[in-house]
Amino acid sequence: MTARLIRNQKRLAEQARSIQSQVQTIAIVKNDAYNFGLKDTFDAFYHGGIRAFATTNLKEAKRLRSYDPNVLVLLLDPSTAFDELRQHDITLSIPSFEFYSTYRDELEGLSVQLVYRNDLNRLGFTSSKDMLKVLEDDQLDVNGMWTHFAYADDFETDRHANEIANWQAVLSDLDDHLSGMTYIHAQNSASFLREGLHEGHTHIRGGVILYGTRPYYQGLDEAIARQTIEVTANVIEITDVPAGQNAGYSAAFTADKPTRLAVCDIGYGNGLILSRKDFPVLINDQSYPIKVMMMSHLLVEIDESVSVGDEVVLYNDQLRFDWFTEHGAGSFSQQMAAFNKETFVEEFIPY
Ligand SMILES: *Cc1c(COP(=O)(O)O)cnc(C)c1O
Repeated sequence: MTARLIRNQKRLAEQARSIQSQVQTIAIVKNDAYNFGLKDTFDAFYHGGIRAFATTNLKEAKRLRSYDPNVLVLLLDPSTAFDELRQHDITLSIPSFEFYSTYRDELEGLSVQLVYRNDLNRLGFTSSKDMLKVLEDDQLDVNGMWTHFAYADDFETDRHANEIANWQAVLSDLDDHLSGMTYIHAQNSASFLREGLHEGHTHIRGGVILYGTRPYYQGLDEAIARQTIEVTANVIEITDVPAGQNAGYSAAFTADKPTRLAVCDIGYGNGLILSRKDFPVLINDQSYPIKVMMMSHLLVEIDESVSVGDEVVLYNDQLRFDWFTEHGAGSFSQQMAAFNKETFVEEFIPY
């Protein structure tokens, strides 16, 4: 028996359609589409009506272009592979005025977007004055502008209002150059769900919400995002541990009473994040606590009703990524990116 990772392509496409029907969406597919698999995810999102895609690395950008000749492929990180960018019609994000000045001649004829650094302080221009100099360069094909908010998922501070104001000031300084621009975007999933599309913007950049996970919980109904991943394993053995005895490496578990343990064929080697062991699994719709997590096995405390061969559920509609995030287990991307797909039997629910 082998643990299963089931990807619900149908829900993925429906999730994309539900967002794209409200707002033009650039789908963020970095890190192999949050580890959903780049090609399958591209297909599902395209099926859902999305025609713009962005990633942080050139290898993935080239793969995206090979799937379709017409969609926007936006590279979020800088690259100096200008010939490849041109050859694959990839839109490059310009990360600074220095980058522009250094590579001015190579950038001619490439489509580019300008990034404003804002409070995230990661990549981007630091002033609208410098951005204006680039916009006034006729030889450059600037098809968009963007920034990324550092506090959109943060309800503890008022800094999100501040970063929105910074960006709006930049847009207003550059107003004369924005009318023909195809892509003006700043908002991730959380910012869009909190505020709707900001004035003067053409698109959002959606991540988590497209993959079926709520970016926050306050006031957000579960129904706006449906879990698109199911992870299950099997009870492969049942062991009865007498009181006072141990189980697992280095006595990871000590029985303070006679205890029945199910040995399940999944562990951190499959990519379960370590904090997952602090939360229960479902067997026959009943909740049971994990006692030990090993590389390839879990020991789960069970009762008489569980048998060898029963299915053990780690993630499904009841055990959602966003529920675990809400209870402190880690973000959606941390839970999802960790899965080692090679170790699973992969299944798909098609659309
Ligand atoms: C990851 C990422 C997003 C998507 O954010 P979500 O919170 O997953 O919606 C948007 N923009 C950039 C630049 C990103 O790196």
